[in-house]
Amino acid sequence: MSTNTLQKFTTAAGRCIYTFPVQAFATLVANIYVIDDGERLTLVDTGSGLPDCNQQLQAGFAALTAEYGPRLDLANLDAILVTHGHIDHFGGLPFVRQFSQAPIGVHVLDRRVLSNHQERQVVAARRLENFLEMAGVPAKHREALMSVYLWAKGFYRSIPVDFLLEEGEPAPGNFQVFHAPGHCPGQVCLRVDDMLLTADHILARITPHQAPESITNHMGLGHYLDSLARIEKLPGITLGLGGHEEPITDIYSRIQAIRHSHQSRLEKTWDICREPRSIADVSKELFGHVESYHVLLALEETGAHVEYLYQRGELVAANLDEIEQNTHPVIRYVRA
Ligand SMILES: [Zn+2]
Ligand SMILES: [Zn+2]
Repeated sequence: MSTNTLQKFTTAAGRCIYTFPVQAFATLVANIYVIDDGERLTLVDTGSGLPDCNQQLQAGFAALTAEYGPRLDLANLDAILVTHGHIDHFGGLPFVRQFSQAPIGVHVLDRRVLSNHQERQVVAARRLENFLEMAGVPAKHREALMSVYLWAKGFYRSIPVDFLLEEGEPAPGNFQVFHAPGHCPGQVCLRVDDMLLTADHILARITPHQAPESITNHMGLGHYLDSLARIEKLPGITLGLGGHEEPITDIYSRIQAIRHSHQSRLEKTWDICREPRSIADVSKELFGHVESYHVLLALEETGAHVEYLYQRGELVAANLDEIEQNTHPVIRYVRA
Protein backbone atom coordinates (compact mmCIF):
# COMPACT_ATOMS: atom_id res chain seq x y z
CA MET A 1 0.00 0.00 0.00
CA SER A 2 1.31 3.44 -0.81
CA THR A 3 1.39 5.82 2.14
CA ASN A 4 -0.74 8.34 0.25
CA THR A 5 -3.89 6.33 1.01
CA LEU A 6 -3.21 6.92 4.71
CA GLN A 7 -4.93 9.85 6.31
CA LYS A 8 -4.29 11.37 9.70
CA PHE A 9 -6.69 13.59 11.64
CA THR A 10 -5.89 15.33 14.90
CA THR A 11 -8.80 16.04 17.24
CA ALA A 12 -9.24 19.31 19.15
CA ALA A 13 -7.78 17.58 22.23
CA GLY A 14 -4.74 16.34 20.31
CA ARG A 15 -5.65 12.70 19.78
CA CYS A 16 -4.60 11.17 16.45
CA ILE A 17 -7.00 9.22 14.24
CA TYR A 18 -5.34 7.34 11.39
CA THR A 19 -7.35 5.74 8.61
CA PHE A 20 -6.76 3.70 5.48
CA PRO A 21 -9.10 1.84 3.10
CA VAL A 22 -9.25 -1.91 2.48
CA GLN A 23 -11.09 -3.79 -0.27
CA ALA A 24 -13.66 -5.68 1.81
CA PHE A 25 -15.32 -7.28 -1.23
CA ALA A 26 -14.84 -6.88 -4.98
CA THR A 27 -17.14 -3.87 -5.07
CA LEU A 28 -16.92 -2.62 -1.49
CA VAL A 29 -14.15 -0.57 0.12
CA ALA A 30 -14.18 -0.29 3.92
CA ASN A 31 -12.27 2.06 6.23
CA ILE A 32 -9.97 0.95 9.04
CA TYR A 33 -9.33 3.38 11.92
CA VAL A 34 -6.45 3.43 14.38
CA ILE A 35 -6.69 5.88 17.28
CA ASP A 36 -3.65 6.93 19.28
CA ASP A 37 -3.95 9.14 22.35
CA GLY A 38 -0.23 8.81 23.15
CA GLU A 39 -0.90 6.09 25.72
CA ARG A 40 -3.43 3.73 24.22
CA LEU A 41 -3.71 2.40 20.70
CA THR A 42 -7.17 1.35 19.53
CA LEU A 43 -8.20 -0.40 16.33
CA VAL A 44 -11.72 0.31 15.10
CA ASP A 45 -13.05 -2.31 12.64
CA THR A 46 -11.11 -4.99 10.84
CA GLY A 47 -12.35 -5.42 7.25
CA SER A 48 -14.06 -8.53 5.88
CA GLY A 49 -11.51 -11.24 6.62
CA LEU A 50 -11.23 -12.28 2.97
CA PRO A 51 -7.58 -13.09 2.09
CA ASP A 52 -7.00 -9.94 0.00
CA CYS A 53 -8.58 -7.76 2.66
CA ASN A 54 -6.40 -9.25 5.43
CA GLN A 55 -3.36 -8.65 3.29
CA GLN A 56 -4.38 -5.01 2.80
CA LEU A 57 -5.01 -4.60 6.52
CA GLN A 58 -1.48 -5.81 7.21
CA ALA A 59 -0.06 -3.60 4.44
CA GLY A 60 -1.93 -0.64 5.93
CA PHE A 61 -0.26 -1.17 9.30
CA ALA A 62 3.13 -1.56 7.57
CA ALA A 63 2.55 1.81 5.89
CA LEU A 64 1.46 3.34 9.21
CA THR A 65 4.59 2.23 11.04
CA ALA A 66 6.80 3.31 8.11
CA GLU A 67 5.22 6.77 8.07
CA TYR A 68 4.48 7.45 11.76
CA GLY A 69 6.70 5.14 13.78
CA PRO A 70 6.94 1.56 15.11
CA ARG A 71 4.45 2.19 17.91
CA LEU A 72 1.58 1.95 15.39
CA ASP A 73 1.88 -1.79 15.03
CA LEU A 74 -0.88 -4.42 15.22
CA ALA A 75 1.09 -6.08 18.04
CA ASN A 76 0.83 -2.89 20.16
CA LEU A 77 -2.97 -2.59 20.18
CA ASP A 78 -4.62 -2.00 23.56
CA ALA A 79 -8.19 -2.57 22.36
CA ILE A 80 -10.13 -3.64 19.28
CA LEU A 81 -13.57 -2.07 18.80
CA VAL A 82 -16.14 -3.31 16.31
CA THR A 83 -18.67 -0.66 15.28
CA HIS A 84 -21.36 -3.19 14.29
CA GLY A 85 -22.01 -6.80 13.41
CA HIS A 86 -21.60 -6.68 9.64
CA ILE A 87 -18.97 -8.94 8.10
CA ASP A 88 -17.15 -6.08 6.29
CA HIS A 89 -16.38 -4.64 9.75
CA PHE A 90 -15.71 -7.66 11.97
CA GLY A 91 -14.68 -10.41 9.50
CA GLY A 92 -10.96 -9.65 9.98
CA LEU A 93 -11.03 -10.41 13.74
CA PRO A 94 -9.60 -13.97 13.46
CA PHE A 95 -6.74 -12.58 11.33
CA VAL A 96 -6.03 -9.72 13.76
CA ARG A 97 -6.02 -12.23 16.64
CA GLN A 98 -2.87 -13.78 15.15
CA PHE A 99 -0.97 -10.55 15.96
CA SER A 100 -2.80 -9.14 18.97
CA GLN A 101 -4.46 -10.43 22.13
CA ALA A 102 -6.03 -7.01 22.80
CA PRO A 103 -9.59 -7.27 24.19
CA ILE A 104 -12.41 -7.10 21.64
CA GLY A 105 -15.45 -4.92 22.30
CA VAL A 106 -18.82 -4.61 20.54
CA HIS A 107 -22.34 -3.52 21.49
CA VAL A 108 -24.30 -6.23 23.30
CA LEU A 109 -26.92 -6.50 20.52
CA ASP A 110 -24.24 -7.56 18.02
CA ARG A 111 -22.18 -9.71 20.38
CA ARG A 112 -23.72 -13.02 19.27
CA VAL A 113 -22.89 -12.25 15.62
CA LEU A 114 -19.19 -12.29 16.57
CA SER A 115 -19.22 -14.96 19.26
CA ASN A 116 -21.94 -17.38 18.04
CA HIS A 117 -21.59 -16.83 14.35
CA GLN A 118 -22.67 -20.22 13.01
CA GLU A 119 -25.81 -20.33 15.14
CA ARG A 120 -26.66 -16.74 14.25
CA GLN A 121 -26.08 -17.38 10.56
CA VAL A 122 -28.48 -20.33 10.47
CA VAL A 123 -31.23 -18.46 12.33
CA ALA A 124 -30.79 -15.21 10.36
CA ALA A 125 -30.74 -17.09 7.06
CA ARG A 126 -34.04 -18.78 7.91
CA ARG A 127 -35.68 -15.47 8.77
CA LEU A 128 -34.33 -13.91 5.60
CA GLU A 129 -35.71 -16.80 3.55
CA ASN A 130 -39.14 -16.34 5.13
CA PHE A 131 -38.98 -12.63 4.35
CA LEU A 132 -38.11 -13.30 0.69
CA GLU A 133 -40.93 -15.80 0.38
CA MET A 134 -43.53 -13.43 1.82
CA ALA A 135 -42.05 -10.63 -0.32
CA GLY A 136 -43.05 -12.61 -3.41
CA VAL A 137 -39.61 -13.73 -4.62
CA PRO A 138 -39.99 -17.01 -6.59
CA ALA A 139 -38.27 -20.13 -5.16
CA LYS A 140 -35.53 -20.39 -7.78
CA HIS A 141 -34.51 -16.75 -7.23
CA ARG A 142 -34.59 -17.22 -3.46
CA GLU A 143 -32.09 -20.04 -3.67
CA ALA A 144 -29.65 -17.92 -5.68
CA LEU A 145 -30.05 -14.96 -3.32
CA MET A 146 -29.46 -17.12 -0.25
CA SER A 147 -26.21 -18.52 -1.63
CA VAL A 148 -25.00 -14.98 -2.38
CA TYR A 149 -25.99 -13.97 1.16
CA LEU A 150 -24.17 -16.86 2.81
CA TRP A 151 -21.00 -16.86 0.70
CA ALA A 152 -18.73 -14.34 2.47
CA LYS A 153 -20.01 -15.29 5.91
CA GLY A 154 -18.66 -18.83 5.53
CA PHE A 155 -15.07 -17.56 5.99
CA TYR A 156 -15.59 -16.33 9.53
CA ARG A 157 -15.00 -18.38 12.70
CA SER A 158 -16.58 -17.28 15.97
CA ILE A 159 -14.38 -15.37 18.38
CA PRO A 160 -15.18 -14.48 22.02
CA VAL A 161 -16.09 -10.88 22.83
CA ASP A 162 -14.17 -9.51 25.84
CA PHE A 163 -16.17 -6.41 26.76
CA LEU A 164 -19.29 -4.50 25.74
CA LEU A 165 -19.63 -1.02 24.28
CA GLU A 166 -22.43 0.65 26.19
CA GLU A 167 -24.34 3.86 25.58
CA GLY A 168 -23.11 6.60 27.89
CA GLU A 169 -20.12 4.57 29.12
CA PRO A 170 -16.67 5.54 27.94
CA ALA A 171 -15.04 2.82 25.81
CA PRO A 172 -11.43 1.85 26.59
CA GLY A 173 -9.31 4.68 25.21
CA ASN A 174 -11.95 7.08 26.51
CA PHE A 175 -14.31 7.43 23.56
CA GLN A 176 -17.96 8.24 24.10
CA VAL A 177 -20.27 5.49 22.87
CA PHE A 178 -23.61 6.28 21.20
CA HIS A 179 -25.91 3.39 20.37
CA ALA A 180 -27.52 4.04 16.98
CA PRO A 181 -29.67 0.98 16.09
CA GLY A 182 -31.25 0.74 12.63
CA HIS A 183 -28.64 -0.12 10.03
CA CYS A 184 -27.59 -2.88 12.45
CA PRO A 185 -28.97 -3.77 15.91
CA GLY A 186 -25.72 -2.99 17.75
CA GLN A 187 -24.55 -0.10 15.58
CA VAL A 188 -22.49 2.39 17.61
CA CYS A 189 -20.97 5.76 16.81
CA LEU A 190 -17.81 6.66 18.73
CA ARG A 191 -17.08 10.23 19.70
CA VAL A 192 -13.39 11.11 19.90
CA ASP A 193 -13.34 14.73 21.15
CA ASP A 194 -14.80 16.82 18.31
CA MET A 195 -14.81 13.98 15.77
CA LEU A 196 -17.38 11.21 15.39
CA LEU A 197 -16.69 7.77 13.99
CA THR A 198 -20.09 7.34 12.40
CA ALA A 199 -19.46 3.77 11.11
CA ASP A 200 -22.33 2.79 8.75
CA HIS A 201 -24.88 4.97 10.52
CA ILE A 202 -23.93 8.03 8.46
CA LEU A 203 -21.94 7.84 5.21
CA ALA A 204 -20.71 10.64 2.95
CA ARG A 205 -22.53 9.60 -0.25
CA ILE A 206 -24.50 6.35 0.08
CA THR A 207 -27.68 6.36 2.14
CA PRO A 208 -26.88 3.58 4.65
CA HIS A 209 -28.63 0.30 3.90
CA GLN A 210 -31.87 -0.55 5.70
CA ALA A 211 -33.50 -3.93 6.28
CA PRO A 212 -36.85 -4.68 7.94
CA GLU A 213 -36.96 -5.54 11.61
CA SER A 214 -39.09 -8.54 10.70
CA ILE A 215 -35.72 -10.13 9.78
CA THR A 216 -33.69 -8.83 12.74
CA ASN A 217 -35.02 -6.95 15.78
CA HIS A 218 -33.60 -3.46 16.40
CA MET A 219 -33.15 -2.91 12.69
CA GLY A 220 -35.76 -1.17 10.57
CA LEU A 221 -36.30 2.35 9.30
CA GLY A 222 -38.15 3.62 12.39
CA HIS A 223 -35.21 2.78 14.67
CA TYR A 224 -32.79 4.18 12.12
CA LEU A 225 -34.55 7.55 11.82
CA ASP A 226 -34.77 7.82 15.63
CA SER A 227 -31.02 7.16 15.87
CA LEU A 228 -30.35 9.74 13.19
CA ALA A 229 -32.27 12.36 15.19
CA ARG A 230 -30.30 11.51 18.36
CA ILE A 231 -26.92 11.89 16.64
CA GLU A 232 -28.10 15.14 15.06
CA LYS A 233 -28.49 16.59 18.57
CA LEU A 234 -24.83 16.03 19.51
CA PRO A 235 -23.24 19.46 19.50
CA GLY A 236 -19.86 20.40 18.11
CA ILE A 237 -18.97 17.55 15.74
CA THR A 238 -16.43 19.00 13.29
CA LEU A 239 -15.83 15.84 11.25
CA GLY A 240 -17.63 12.54 10.64
CA LEU A 241 -15.54 9.47 9.81
CA GLY A 242 -17.62 6.73 8.22
CA GLY A 243 -17.13 3.00 7.79
CA HIS A 244 -16.97 3.58 4.02
CA GLU A 245 -16.28 6.52 1.72
CA GLU A 246 -14.58 9.83 2.50
CA PRO A 247 -14.83 11.94 5.68
CA ILE A 248 -18.04 13.92 6.20
CA THR A 249 -17.25 17.60 6.69
CA ASP A 250 -20.77 18.56 7.80
CA ILE A 251 -22.56 15.66 9.48
CA TYR A 252 -25.58 17.84 10.31
CA SER A 253 -26.42 18.65 6.69
CA ARG A 254 -25.58 15.06 5.70
CA ILE A 255 -28.13 13.80 8.26
CA GLN A 256 -30.77 16.09 6.75
CA ALA A 257 -29.98 14.81 3.24
CA ILE A 258 -30.25 11.16 4.37
CA ARG A 259 -33.56 11.83 6.12
CA HIS A 260 -34.85 13.56 3.00
CA SER A 261 -33.86 10.62 0.78
CA HIS A 262 -35.82 8.21 3.01
CA GLN A 263 -38.79 10.55 3.04
CA SER A 264 -38.91 10.63 -0.74
CA ARG A 265 -38.49 6.84 -0.95
CA LEU A 266 -41.39 6.45 1.49
CA GLU A 267 -43.52 8.71 -0.68
CA LYS A 268 -42.63 6.70 -3.82
CA THR A 269 -43.41 3.45 -2.00
CA TRP A 270 -46.79 4.76 -0.91
CA ASP A 271 -47.48 5.97 -4.44
CA ILE A 272 -46.60 2.58 -5.99
CA CYS A 273 -49.04 0.86 -3.59
CA ARG A 274 -52.13 2.57 -5.02
CA GLU A 275 -52.75 -0.96 -6.40
CA PRO A 276 -51.92 -4.06 -4.25
CA ARG A 277 -48.19 -4.80 -4.60
CA SER A 278 -45.80 -7.36 -3.13
CA ILE A 279 -42.45 -6.15 -1.76
CA ALA A 280 -40.78 -7.72 -4.84
CA ASP A 281 -43.10 -5.65 -7.10
CA VAL A 282 -42.34 -2.44 -5.20
CA SER A 283 -38.60 -3.18 -5.28
CA LYS A 284 -38.65 -3.53 -9.08
CA GLU A 285 -40.37 -0.17 -9.43
CA LEU A 286 -38.09 1.58 -6.94
CA PHE A 287 -34.75 0.15 -8.08
CA GLY A 288 -35.34 -1.12 -11.63
CA HIS A 289 -33.09 -3.94 -12.84
CA VAL A 290 -30.27 -4.83 -10.43
CA GLU A 291 -27.99 -7.88 -10.24
CA SER A 292 -26.71 -10.47 -7.71
CA TYR A 293 -26.16 -9.04 -4.22
CA HIS A 294 -27.88 -5.80 -5.19
CA VAL A 295 -31.16 -7.68 -5.71
CA LEU A 296 -31.05 -8.71 -2.07
CA LEU A 297 -30.09 -5.20 -0.93
CA ALA A 298 -32.95 -3.70 -2.99
CA LEU A 299 -35.48 -6.16 -1.52
CA GLU A 300 -34.34 -5.49 2.05
CA GLU A 301 -34.34 -1.73 1.50
CA THR A 302 -37.85 -1.90 0.04
CA GLY A 303 -38.96 -4.21 2.85
CA ALA A 304 -37.80 -1.64 5.41
CA HIS A 305 -39.81 1.13 3.74
CA VAL A 306 -42.95 -0.98 3.29
CA GLU A 307 -42.68 -2.16 6.90
CA TYR A 308 -42.32 1.44 8.14
CA LEU A 309 -45.53 2.48 6.34
CA TYR A 310 -47.36 -0.70 7.39
CA GLN A 311 -46.39 -0.25 11.06
CA ARG A 312 -47.83 3.27 10.92
CA GLY A 313 -51.09 2.25 9.25
CA GLU A 314 -50.32 3.96 5.93
CA LEU A 315 -50.33 0.60 4.12
CA VAL A 316 -52.47 -2.45 4.84
CA ALA A 317 -52.45 -6.04 3.60
CA ALA A 318 -54.85 -6.35 0.65
CA ASN A 319 -55.09 -10.15 0.29
CA LEU A 320 -56.38 -11.27 3.69
CA ASP A 321 -57.97 -14.49 2.40
CA GLU A 322 -54.68 -15.70 0.93
CA ILE A 323 -52.83 -14.77 4.11
CA GLU A 324 -55.34 -16.68 6.21
CA GLN A 325 -55.17 -19.81 4.09
CA ASN A 326 -51.40 -20.16 3.51
CA THR A 327 -48.57 -20.67 5.99
CA HIS A 328 -46.12 -18.56 3.92
CA PRO A 329 -48.31 -16.28 1.84
CA VAL A 330 -47.08 -13.47 -0.35
CA ILE A 331 -48.37 -10.26 1.23
CA ARG A 332 -49.72 -7.56 -1.09
CA TYR A 333 -49.76 -4.07 0.34
CA VAL A 334 -52.14 -1.29 -0.57
CA ARG A 335 -52.75 2.22 0.71
CA ALA A 336 -54.99 2.31 3.75
ZN1 LIG B 1 -22.95 -2.16 7.89
ZN1 LIG C 1 -20.16 -1.55 6.10
